[in-house]
Amino acid sequence: MFKDNMYVYPKSVYKRGDSEYCIAVTDGVAVLSVSGSDIALFDGTETSQAGVPVKLCPLTVANSKIIRKLFDFTNPGSHKGSKTTIGLGDRLGLATPGHIRAVRDLEVFPVFAQQSMRELNLTGRTYDDVLAAAVWAVFREGYTKGYGADGDHLKTHDEIKHAIDCGYTMITLDCSEHIQGDLESSSEAVIKHVISIYNDLIKGTDVDFEVSIDETLTATSPQSHYSVARELIKQGVEITSLAPRFVGEFQKGIDYIGSVSGFEQDFLEHKKIAEELGYKLSIHSGSDKFSIFPVIGRLTDGRFHLKTAGTSWLEAVRVIAQHEPELYREMHIFALDNLQEAKKYYSITENTSNIADINNIEDTALVDYLDQDDARRVLHITYGLILLAKTKSGEPLFRDRIYKALNTYESEYSAALDKHIGKHLYALGQVNK
Ligand code: ZN
Repeated sequence: MFKDNMYVYPKSVYKRGDSEYCIAVTDGVAVLSVSGSDIALFDGTETSQAGVPVKLCPLTVANSKIIRKLFDFTNPGSHKGSKTTIGLGDRLGLATPGHIRAVRDLEVFPVFAQQSMRELNLTGRTYDDVLAAAVWAVFREGYTKGYGADGDHLKTHDEIKHAIDCGYTMITLDCSEHIQGDLESSSEAVIKHVISIYNDLIKGTDVDFEVSIDETLTATSPQSHYSVARELIKQGVEITSLAPRFVGEFQKGIDYIGSVSGFEQDFLEHKKIAEELGYKLSIHSGSDKFSIFPVIGRLTDGRFHLKTAGTSWLEAVRVIAQHEPELYREMHIFALDNLQEAKKYYSITENTSNIADINNIEDTALVDYLDQDDARRVLHITYGLILLAKTKSGEPLFRDRIYKALNTYESEYSAALDKHIGKHLYALGQVNK
């Protein structure tokens, strides 16, 4: 809707005392517009609209912290007690409005802010930035049902303390550095590490605590899952969720690789343990695992945590392929040229000879790359290199153009995410009741 020649997001209009709030777009940039006595609380530029003083405030981390103080629903919260929870990582800080559309009418608790240290480093963002993007989206879309913020795959005391200090409500402790070879032979080291982190930082808080033992070379045996988790609980650790490494392969942004019935057997064993010990199973690298989603939904009766992230980046790339073919072509060639570098951070088994030569592809068919597994994997794992790439003179090579394109095609991006994350949730058995 339009007000005083500015586009105003219709769900972003709030009153608080004598103050009125909305998120408006001026000169192509979204800002917070505040009138009334709350003007004094925010950083921004004072102006007037129809004779009324108004402050136009940039959507910064500092202003988001004021919003969190004034509007309680914009704060992330714990999801203990929520049956179905889903991590919806947003590496660009632009995906949450689309994620909100996908979950709004479902009984699903979303974790909108979810980022690992690896992802922070590869995108040049901070935990404050990631949470602020979620806060602004929730405020803009009037999403009051609650959401979480996950400091994902954290390994050290300092990392975890920092995420909690920034307001994160879920911590995923990555134990991989304490697991040499299989879990069985290193379980003592793991247990000691988890207990020390838990007692120092988590105990007595409302933080959702996830124990992640998935980044190992071999699948977690149900026996070692049971013995480690039982010992942790005996020592007083309250586990909200636990991520074993399941059988088969969970490569980024593509379907499960392996036997679905083999997965079902393995998953069932882990699920029984989780149920007995009183926490949820967490499924990592959960983007696009369509062949096993029905199994997960059915065996858990909807009680699970599933993490996605890369697939929302790939939907952004899809929008670029559809609307900015030249930009897509450059990104595609860059991704292939820099694949070996990206494989230092992510392990995939792509076969680039399956990716058709882009010089022979018409603009209208570029989008088909986003439906081809090898191209998806390459475009997925090179996101950080693409976002941080610089020209010879030090300017961002792609970053600004990517943000500009996605701001221009914002409604297309939201619609694509609604559809694609909606497809995940539907396959997991989540339907509008
Ligand atoms: Zn993981």
